[in-house]
Amino acid sequence: MKKKTINRHSDGSTCLEGTVSPLPKNFKPCCDFFEGHLSSCAYKVRFDWNKSKKHFGIADPVMSNVYTQINYCPWCGKKL
Ligand SMILES: [Zn+2]
Ligand SMILES: [Zn+2]
Repeated sequence: MKKKTINRHSDGSTCLEGTVSPLPKNFKPCCDFFEGHLSSCAYKVRFDWNKSKKHFGIADPVMSNVYTQINYCPWCGKKL
């Protein structure tokens, strides 16, 4: 097993590439594109489930737990 290391950006912030934040129960990604961006780096557009506000959002690469709300998938247009 590979040892789990935390990747960091040059500014010291944590890189979330390859990790997925907790998703709502029974969540099924609408398409492969959306699913792929649930585990990407915030600098490459990352979607996270905002648990407290109950919506999906684009993660802010600089401030953690800050999300720009999105209601529809940008690729397939399905309501999230
Ligand atoms: Zn990163
Ligand atoms: Zn989609």
